[in-house]
Amino acid sequence: MSIEHTDGSFRDSLATIDKRGNRLWVYPTKPSGRLHRQRVAVALALLAFLFAAPWIRVNGNPLLLFDIVHRQFFIFGLIFWPQDIYLFVLATIALAVFVILFTAAFGRLFCGWICPQTVFMEMVFRKLEYWIDGDGPRQRRLANAPWTAAKIARRALKLGIFFAISFLIGNTFLAYFIGADALLDIVTSPPTEHLTGFAFMLLFSLVFFGVFAWFREQACTLVCPYGRLQSVLLDANSIVVAYDFRRGEPRAPFSSKDSRDGKGDCIVCGACVRVCPTGIDIRNGTQLECVNCAACIDACDDIMAGVNLPPGLIRYASHEGIATGNRLRFTPRMKLYSAILTILVATLVTLLATRSSVEATVLRTAGSLIEELPDGTIRNLYTIKVTNKTARDLPIELRLQSPAGELALLGPPLEAPPQGQDESVFAIQIPGSRVPAGNALVTIGVFSNNEEIATVRTSFAGPSPRGRQ
Ligand code: SF4
Ligand code: SF4
Repeated sequence: MSIEHTDGSFRDSLATIDKRGNRLWVYPTKPSGRLHRQRVAVALALLAFLFAAPWIRVNGNPLLLFDIVHRQFFIFGLIFWPQDIYLFVLATIALAVFVILFTAAFGRLFCGWICPQTVFMEMVFRKLEYWIDGDGPRQRRLANAPWTAAKIARRALKLGIFFAISFLIGNTFLAYFIGADALLDIVTSPPTEHLTGFAFMLLFSLVFFGVFAWFREQACTLVCPYGRLQSVLLDANSIVVAYDFRRGEPRAPFSSKDSRDGKGDCIVCGACVRVCPTGIDIRNGTQLECVNCAACIDACDDIMAGVNLPPGLIRYASHEGIATGNRLRFTPRMKLYSAILTILVATLVTLLATRSSVEATVLRTAGSLIEELPDGTIRNLYTIKVTNKTARDLPIELRLQSPAGELALLGPPLEAPPQGQDESVFAIQIPGSRVPAGNALVTIGVFSNNEEIATVRTSFAGPSPRGRQ
């Protein structure tokens, strides 16, 4: 993307790192304005959902739970097992294509409005910082001031509150993996009773504290892989937070006495730079560091209103749109992504709709031998594991469908609880005359209340071919 009005030298350095490689701390001015108010509303809704979700149940199931230890995953109350891995893979591919399509069309809109990193950093921690330390310039003065008792007290208060919130986030994060009940158990018991859980709780809290108290915007500008992908996903038609260089240039300071003939609308006030949480100058054009927080749009609109110029000098727009005046184009690239996404989503919906309610896995019992009974019948032992994906109890009955023979349950009756699993052991006996040498295929019907709910095929070991000779 060419930037007509700069020499591009800004691309040789990062706004948050000086020439010697030291970090330059960003002290952005407090944002305000129409878009900021909308972002606050979105952030409040997202935060409410994030903190509440582990405690919400749907038909007795957690709304969201990624229980890796027990290999159970609940998404909007529906249970998924490792056997459903193909759905996860497909959903992940669909999500990746959606992200590519969305980014090609709307740039880093997700980062500014929805990403938890930005929501927590800008809407929780930064707001607390403004409350405790004051606006950006005051924060800078405080940072450069000597360590007096007042400064130490202020820092202790801020970092104490930051850690308390990080602890809350760490607990909530843990609840997504172990469930709200298990979390309550850890919280209400002495740490010695749940050393592992307590260690993870502390680890998550420290990581979040480190990210929001110290690492901050560098998570977006240096680490986030999505941010790095921008360079290949964005093109001139992508809608991003953009400075209208056609309207803004040539820049010239404002003076109520001078006419603006021959001057652009940018009055070089620097408000857009001062408010930027990643420390960049959006007038240099699209940059990887821009998280599309829209703070510069609000800041510039405010300035424009003050000097009686129309708003929108910085706005959501594409480079192409600014250069040519055309609106968003549905480019061939977007059409291709959309077609792929439609196919993936249709496949995913079909697979979800036709997902079997019961999963039965049959394995030959480990270490069991083929048994030849006195009447010549051959017997094989099996283990069965049944996964009930429904919300009701499923009494399970097994019937041998082919070849003719007998199936006898040796273990406890199978009774798979709702969204649960059960296992047992059974034997299949087939008259020796009907068993071919080597391995034969047997078909077992899995029934519940006389309704066939699954069919399983497995092998039945007959006498060795040499034994038949
Ligand atoms: S806030 Fe607007 S007018 Fe001020 S420097 Fe930025 S682009 Fe120019
Ligand atoms: S350039 Fe504007 S939109 Fe981008 S991060 Fe800075 S303030 Fe936010």
